[in-house]
Amino acid sequence: MYKLLVFFLLISLLSCQSNSQPEPPQYNVPAEVEPFILAFRQEAQQRNKTVATNNLIVTFGTTLGEDVCGECIPGKTPRIVLNIDDFCWQKASQQERECLIFHELGHCLLNRAHKTDKFPNGAFISLMNPDNVTVYATCRYPIGDDECDKRPRRSYYIDELFDSSTPTPTWGK
Ligand SMILES: [Zn+2]
Repeated sequence: MYKLLVFFLLISLLSCQSNSQPEPPQYNVPAEVEPFILAFRQEAQQRNKTVATNNLIVTFGTTLGEDVCGECIPGKTPRIVLNIDDFCWQKASQQERECLIFHELGHCLLNRAHKTDKFPNGAFISLMNPDNVTVYATCRYPIGDDECDKRPRRSYYIDELFDSSTPTPTWGK
């Protein structure tokens, strides 16, 4: 009887190992993208959102469509491909880069779909809009640009990214 028990224990241990061994997380992010992933992690923490950012691969590519600056490929390890073209990355400002990466992280890590709605003033409601890259442009979504004074917009758009029920801000009415 005792031997039988040991035998079953062994079997269950072996089957456990072969069946449910989790895929190890992979993390590979280019150095110039890393600060934006860190920023995303910080913004999530500030909003008490638990988002695992340690299982992610980001690469640069040129095979995306002409107007496509980034792409999220979901999977066991989500992948983001960024278009390295001038327009999309090389000549983009830091805030535009952040917008692009946050948009792709919205797809890959937050399961967000595209959202095309606009506020009464014509501004896009969400960073998840797919139509217009000017939402990423300076003054639309700048960081610490005194002349534009749109810093509240940055925090609104990130609020909305993590919680799509974020109410309309005063500047959107
Ligand atoms: Zn998208």
